[in-house]
Amino acid sequence: MRLHHHTIASSVVSVMLFVYFKSWGLAIGSFISGIFIDLDHIIDVIREHGWSIKTKDFFMICNNGQFDRVFLYCHGWEWSFLFLITAWVSGWNPWLLGISIGLIHHLILDTIYNSSNPYSYSFLWRWKHDFAFDKIFTKLINLKYNYRKQISAEINKS
Ligand SMILES: [Zn+2]
Repeated sequence: MRLHHHTIASSVVSVMLFVYFKSWGLAIGSFISGIFIDLDHIIDVIREHGWSIKTKDFFMICNNGQFDRVFLYCHGWEWSFLFLITAWVSGWNPWLLGISIGLIHHLILDTIYNSSNPYSYSFLWRWKHDFAFDKIFTKLINLKYNYRKQISAEINKS
């Protein structure tokens, strides 16, 4: 799912949380984690494509699945549930609960939008599959290779 979609979804969820619970911690925690979890894409892009990537290329790489391996360190159901358990142990600290809500709704949306397999957003499951993009994001394989064909055709034309 794209960044502007996550920003809209996080805004809606956070406003709803604030309206219902009147908690800034809950609302802000959810808003921030629901968007900034995607910062882990930067690590994968730099690892596979180097440091010289421009912002425009960064989004083209991410939106067209241009990866051989994807670690996505922050995308993990495991981390969401760890935050949820930590929130519970802390007596439902609103910031910790908000962060877990933000992570969970982000991963649900990513699962629906990017992958037919909910395990794709399990860090342990990705690890078991050696973080191989083609094994993890089977729904995006056509997008990935069609984009590569398109780029090759454009290079051959010029
Ligand atoms: Zn994401």
